[in-house]
Amino acid sequence: MEFKIFERRECPICQDRKGKVLFSTYDDRYGQPDLYSVMECQECRTCYLLEAIAPNDLPNLYEKYYGGNLALNAVTEKVMTQHFYTNPAVRVFTNRLRRSIIGVVYQSWFRFWSGDKVLDWTFRQNEQVLDVGCGGGHLAEPILACGAKWTGLDIDPRNCQAVTERGLKCICGTIDAVDLPAGSYDSIIGSQVIEHISDPRKFLMRCAQLIRPGGRVLLSTPNIESRYRRISGQNWIHWFVPYHQVLFSPHSLEMLGKQCNLRMLSYRTETPTAWALLQLNYQRPPRGEIGTWRSKGRPRWLQPDGLSLRLRLEDTLYGDGDVLIAELVKA
Ligand SMILES: [Zn+2]
Repeated sequence: MEFKIFERRECPICQDRKGKVLFSTYDDRYGQPDLYSVMECQECRTCYLLEAIAPNDLPNLYEKYYGGNLALNAVTEKVMTQHFYTNPAVRVFTNRLRRSIIGVVYQSWFRFWSGDKVLDWTFRQNEQVLDVGCGGGHLAEPILACGAKWTGLDIDPRNCQAVTERGLKCICGTIDAVDLPAGSYDSIIGSQVIEHISDPRKFLMRCAQLIRPGGRVLLSTPNIESRYRRISGQNWIHWFVPYHQVLFSPHSLEMLGKQCNLRMLSYRTETPTAWALLQLNYQRPPRGEIGTWRSKGRPRWLQPDGLSLRLRLEDTLYGDGDVLIAELVKA
């Protein structure tokens, strides 16, 4: 193994020791060549890597491989902005009508023209928001537009510098290591972050410590119970080894929340159009090579339209979308 690992003998969420190896796979996006075994907990159905990357070697893995595939990064960046939309009228309208047929059609149409933006969380005036794993700070703008105060936190100094250069506040480090006062935030966001962390309980405990009583932890993470996981099997894009260490179901995320004194107030699932396109057009490369994404068949501009409608309908009907979006509240 190129990076230091530790073998996970128990489920990181429920500690059950009867995990089963589902299959072995490799990094099919950035070309890290080692083989990893994907485990499934037979008790709570959480999936996790048997060979977890040692936390102190994680920065080396990310520095060498992650982000080194520009075509895919462009797609990811687009998807990362999807959970926020600033127009309050659109937000109310979409939230109210999400479960109705008009809402579904409207959302599909809206997504097609807005580049996949959908709203999930709202922020009050002057609310203190900490965006953990903020990357280039793509969530800052819509959150600031709500009138909230945004602070980024990222492990990668290159990201921190990029955010600071835009005149925004960004703390460099991990949430454990940085010196932040307890109870100082109203909301903590972890957008596509918790699945990358080898000790998600420690992470969520720290989040709970940093928010005030009644404060929120807003998470989005791949949904292990998604229909694309069933359809795509080992080619599901969210296995994403070795970067994704732990993959949650709504139930296992709720369970982890409870262990951290956080109550899951609500959750829903959805499949971003850009992710579905990535899944449908993804070319899995041989081991050690970088993955490619290209549009098959129909012209690109025709694809998202019908697909977006279908995804919205399926997510509404079956509730098994690719992303799990949850709001947890400190008890
Ligand atoms: Zn478990």
